[in-house]
Amino acid sequence: MEIAITVDELLLWDGTPMPSGYTPHSVMDSLLGALSEHDVAGAYGFAHTAPIEDDPANRDILDRWVDAGHHLGNHTHCHACLNWVTGQQYVDDIKRSEEYVGGYVEKAPTKYFRYAMDMSGESECKRGVVEDHLRAEGYVNAPITAWFGDFAWIAPYCRALKSGDRDAARMLRESYIGAAVGQLVAAHETERRLYRSDVPLIWLIHGTAIAQDCVGEILGRFAELGAEFVSLEQAMASPVNRVMSPVSPLFRNHLQRLAAAVGDEIPATATPEQMAQILTAALPDGDDPFGVYDDLIHRMAARAGGTIEHWSWA
Ligand SMILES: [Zn+2]
Repeated sequence: MEIAITVDELLLWDGTPMPSGYTPHSVMDSLLGALSEHDVAGAYGFAHTAPIEDDPANRDILDRWVDAGHHLGNHTHCHACLNWVTGQQYVDDIKRSEEYVGGYVEKAPTKYFRYAMDMSGESECKRGVVEDHLRAEGYVNAPITAWFGDFAWIAPYCRALKSGDRDAARMLRESYIGAAVGQLVAAHETERRLYRSDVPLIWLIHGTAIAQDCVGEILGRFAELGAEFVSLEQAMASPVNRVMSPVSPLFRNHLQRLAAAVGDEIPATATPEQMAQILTAALPDGDDPFGVYDDLIHRMAARAGGTIEHWSWA
């Protein structure tokens, strides 16, 4: 099993809760340490750039990533999903990001772009506006084929640490690591079903507090499973990672959209009951477990000039 590791959001979205004692620098320490321990060099990070507009000191985080020998791709400025804005607004957002990371993106071995949330809109026509721009500017779209919904652990982990609920924090770390491993295996098996051969997976983790505490163990587990870490360029040499999968209004990555196109799907590793336990860990009575995440995406959409009419986390 070959895996290209990619890290999104080296700087998290505006409004993302962070437990005390954790900073983008402490998360970066852990990410760089884990990658180095597993001899992963030249990994690609995809960071939206609004946090640098908000605080220019945040650029230090991206500098550290690149100084450690890793690369950056364009991931838009506001991180609005293409489903929430027009094609032209999305293109403008890609251009805005270039003001902050354009130099790094140009210097990388390949000029990659990653759609925010790996969602490329709900209409082929709208996506075409973006794709025409990307092609004209020499970008290659780097999709995601293995993810594990890791953002879902952000708010519960922060709550658990804040309230000193050690049992909940431990349950969250264990379930997070279990989901990372389970979803990787499920994506690998799905690829074998669909393609009847092994294709390098493009794996995603976000730069979160729980990632800081678990990424080393996750990569260790992957290695125990026999995973070989390869470059994004090696993964992108496969045509199935390079083609555009059909657009979808749903929150699905590249492999999930391709699977859906032939009536297949990647099985979930957590039951609805397990997912509910994760989302409601250390949640005060009456609070909405999705409230934090709904707030984040509405901020992204508004900042890019768009609105969210329909959205489902499912
Ligand atoms: Zn992202």
